[in-house]
Order: sequence, then structure tokens, then C-alpha cells
Amino acid sequence: MTIAELSQKILTRDRRALARAITLVESQRADHRVMAEQLLGVLATHRRQALRIGLSGTPGVGKSTFIESFGLMLTAQGLRVAVLAVDPSSARSGGSILGDKTRMERLSRDPNAFIRPSPSQTHLGGVARRTRDVVALCEAAGFDVVLIETVGVGQSETVVAEISDLFLLLLAPAGGDELQGVKRGIMEIADVILVNKADGDLKPAATRTCADYSGALRLLRKRVQDPPGYPKAMMVSALEDEGLGQAWTELQQLNSWRREHGHWDQRRAEQARYWFVQEVRQTLLAQLDSPQARARITDLGDRVAQGDQSISQAAKQMLTTLDPT
Ligand code: GDP
Repeated sequence: MTIAELSQKILTRDRRALARAITLVESQRADHRVMAEQLLGVLATHRRQALRIGLSGTPGVGKSTFIESFGLMLTAQGLRVAVLAVDPSSARSGGSILGDKTRMERLSRDPNAFIRPSPSQTHLGGVARRTRDVVALCEAAGFDVVLIETVGVGQSETVVAEISDLFLLLLAPAGGDELQGVKRGIMEIADVILVNKADGDLKPAATRTCADYSGALRLLRKRVQDPPGYPKAMMVSALEDEGLGQAWTELQQLNSWRREHGHWDQRRAEQARYWFVQEVRQTLLAQLDSPQARARITDLGDRVAQGDQSISQAAKQMLTTLDPT
């Protein structure tokens, strides 16, 4: 199939074509990379956009239960929902957070939903690019909402936040000291904090936790891109399907406000700029890591060590010999 045919199929929402394109953008092969870039270039001209929602939370907090209930609620409203995962730890654990087939079983059978597990990747840079590309493919394939899930480890939240329009943090009810368990950084990128499992015996603890976080959020610096009252904390029960409609309303309100006030466009523009710089850096680092470049670094390093060349001269010489392709 040519790139033109593949892009045409994706634009007409052909799921098999989408899956095929995702495999292409995930491939490490140089010829696949060239085709993937062509494909993404063609699709970008159509400028289709989805609402991108990032979602983070530690294992066991209820992410998959939430995504399933929330996703089914959205598809019931006629929306098309794609679910992706950013899971840099999958390479280590040998499995992915979405790899388990029993996760989100009902949502995965829904014709208006598309669930894509995270492939094993060794470094966050590769995961970030792959996720950006897959989001772009899902947007071209006409999805209305793209949910990007990550576990609360390392820098993966930052990656997801820099791809998303809105960022959700899922928490479980806990004792009074648990505020310390959440890094300040993630509180700062969260637009809405959802205290999950607000049901049964856990309800009182959820209420307390929610009040604690509401207080903590009020202490954070006011953000220019937010209307009064945001970021906010609220309670949900993914298991009992409670509060999800309200959470969706909140997200839509925040999103509409940002769109009307120009913050949405601005954020996407800043994200594009950020990823461009990341891409340049990563490409340069990859070039420095080629066998030829390493050999050259050793040679020039010897010259510098022997005092035959100055450090800055050698560094300049090194950079000019990098692969310009
Ligand atoms: P994940 O690791 O974050 O994806 O968490 P899961 O969705 O797999 O949920 C972990 C456990 O919490 C499971 O046993 C769920 O049934 C349970 N759970 C998830 N959401 C809720 C909820 O709203 N209320 C209660 N009581 N349990 C929940």
C-alpha cells in the first residue's frame, strides 16, 4: 500500500489502516521511519484535532477502571475515544501497563474505542516521539478524545503533560499524611485531581483526601490559563460510575474557557516548539552515538589529551563532522 493510500484510509477512519500506521511509526527501521515521516506529513495537512487528555496515577489507584468507565460514558455520547499508554518502565518489566488483555475489556470491544498498548521501549525519548506520532495518527483518524495514560514514575508525567491539552491526576483515598506522597511537580501540572474509590467504606477517607487536596491546590500559584476555581479536586468512583459525568463537564468547561481565551492554541504552539527542540537534541545525541562519531571522539580526545589541539577547537571540529542527513 502506498503512503497516499494509507493516509486516505486513515482519514476515512479505517481501523486496520490506523493499526498498520501505528506499527509503522513504532518501527525502528530507517526505511519505515522515512515512510512514517511522509505519512505524518500528509496527515498533518488535514489539521484534524482531538481533545487530548493525559492521565496519571500510581498502580492500583484505578486508572484502567476509570478509563473503561469514562471511555464507555464518552462512546455512549457518540464520541470516538482512543486510549494510549506511555510506559517507559515496560522495557524493564517486560510487560506494558496496557498489555494485559483483561484490562478494559468492555471498552476494547466498543467499536467507537481504540486501545493501543505501549510497546517496549528503552528510553523516554523514544516513547515520547512514538506517543506524539500515535496521537497525530489518532487525530487524523477522526477520534474526538485521546486519553494518554501513564504510571506515576519518573519523568513520564512531564512527557504526557507536554502532549496533552488537559492533565488528570488520579489518587486513592488515604490517611492524612499522604499529601507528601505526591510530588509537588505533578500537582502543578494537574488540571483536575480525581480522588477515586469514593464509595462504600472508603467514602469518608475520600472526602477528607479531597478536602486536603482542594486546600493544597488553592495554595499553588494561580495560573493565567485557568478560570477561577481551577485546578480543582473532586471525588469519583470509577467502579460505581459516580462523578464521571461531572468530571467530564469540568474538563469540557476548562477546555472551552482556554479555547475562548486563546490559551489552548498557545499551549499547542508551545508544545510544538518544545518537541521541536527535544527532537533536535535527540537527533544530535543519536548522531554523537554512531560508531564513526565515537571513533572520532576518541581520536580528537587523544589529540586534546596530548595537548595537540585545544578543547574548543576539537569540539567544533567534532560537531562539523556529524552526519548532516
Ligand atoms: P490501575 O493499576 O491504576 O490501572 O488500577 P485498576 O483499575 O487496575 O484498579 C485497581 C483496583 O482498584 C482494582 O481491584 C479495582 O477494582 C479497584 N478500583 C478501581 N476503581 C475503584 C473504585 O472506584 N472504587 C473501588 N472501591 N475500587 C476501585
